[in-house]
Amino acid sequence: MQLMLLGAPGVGKGTQAVLLVKELGIPQISTGEMLRTEVKNATPLGLNVKKIMHLGELVSDDIILKIVEKRLRKPDCANGFILDGFPRTIPQAEGLSKILHKLDIGQLHVIEIVVPHAEILRRLTSRRICSQCGRVYNLLITPPTEQNKCDECGGNIIQRDDDTKETIKHRLEIYRESTAPLIDYYQKKQNYHCVDGLQPVESVFDDILSVRVKLAQNRNGSAISNVKLIKT
Ligand code: AMP
Repeated sequence: MQLMLLGAPGVGKGTQAVLLVKELGIPQISTGEMLRTEVKNATPLGLNVKKIMHLGELVSDDIILKIVEKRLRKPDCANGFILDGFPRTIPQAEGLSKILHKLDIGQLHVIEIVVPHAEILRRLTSRRICSQCGRVYNLLITPPTEQNKCDECGGNIIQRDDDTKETIKHRLEIYRESTAPLIDYYQKKQNYHCVDGLQPVESVFDDILSVRVKLAQNRNGSAISNVKLIKT
């Protein structure tokens, strides 16, 4: 199954993607995480995008589409994947559609996670990530069990350098200008679903999984035998 998580920075895409990876056994493709790894390793690409990311600007569509295509060609994407933070512009969405066609990948299901602006600001300023594995925490909602230590790999928990108040405001403006138009774009394609991101993490997750169940029901009439039902 090919899922795309859509929504402003801070709505919980990364948190949900990690849960979905565990549940569905398909990889998370986070362009932000891929770029942060390039920056951390000081590769030519990393050096190229470091300042852009620090300022909260968008990296060029060409660069993003190249790294996504390369990633989607890997064998672990054969049974599906979860796109997190990509696409972020209409040209990226159009580029993605061409890549999916070229690689003969089936329909993409878009799930928008909706959270009001004021809550996004509150969440982003309390967001932290693991410097080693990139796992996302929120000190208010999903803190690590042990202070400053990643539950997953024991790495150090840090604040992203683009999670400062000024940069957050700028990233949200960019979201409104460049990424929000994707909602309309995907709504017209009839593969769009929307979940309330204000609910507890587990309920958002259940709602996302229920989209999957509904899709299976639509495909198989009422038969949903090969689908793991969500907990109620
Ligand atoms: P994220 O972790 O998704 O919030 O991304 C962090 C930063 O990486 C963004 O603010 C952009 O500078 C860059 N970035 C990540 N994904 C994309 C994308 N699809 N298009 C352009 N820039 C991106």
